[in-house]
Amino acid sequence: MLEATLNFKLLEMCSKCGACFDICPSCMHIPGYDPREVIKDILNGRHERWLDSGHIWECLECHQCLEMCYQHYGFENAMTSMRMLASKKGIYPAQVKRGWEMFVKTSRLGEPALPARKKLGLPEPKASGVDEFRKLYELLKQSREGGGSPTEAD
Ligand code: SF4
Ligand code: SF4
Repeated sequence: MLEATLNFKLLEMCSKCGACFDICPSCMHIPGYDPREVIKDILNGRHERWLDSGHIWECLECHQCLEMCYQHYGFENAMTSMRMLASKKGIYPAQVKRGWEMFVKTSRLGEPALPARKKLGLPEPKASGVDEFRKLYELLKQSREGGGSPTEAD
């Protein structure tokens, strides 16, 4: 699966470079977060050991590594692919599961804090568009189950 989502040639270059370690906020502030180690293990066929590690969920997806990378590749690709693989195997932190369940139910990742908004003089939040989201989500599920496109399932 990782071969399908990652370019191993670029990852090889990445493993020899390591430059964006010094600009990655997670690398700077989270002890033990080091995509260079994950990339090395991906290349050595030992990526499984990271699947249940909380570190693969600590990438902020801030794109800084993508922006500065001379290959326009970035640590981020490796970490995203690892999270996708872990999710497919049903391995994810409890808060990710809760966030996903809430998103599917409400199309939001969290409930707006209405009293706090009022106190700060902020306007009522806009409607979330949950009805449209649910229709799209159902179509997507049907198309995955039936092998057709969302349009065909309509
Ligand atoms: S996208 Fe992830 S790996 Fe890249 S700099 Fe941001 S936190 Fe670090
Ligand atoms: S993502 Fe790009 S800049 Fe960062 S270590 Fe890999 S090759 Fe170097």
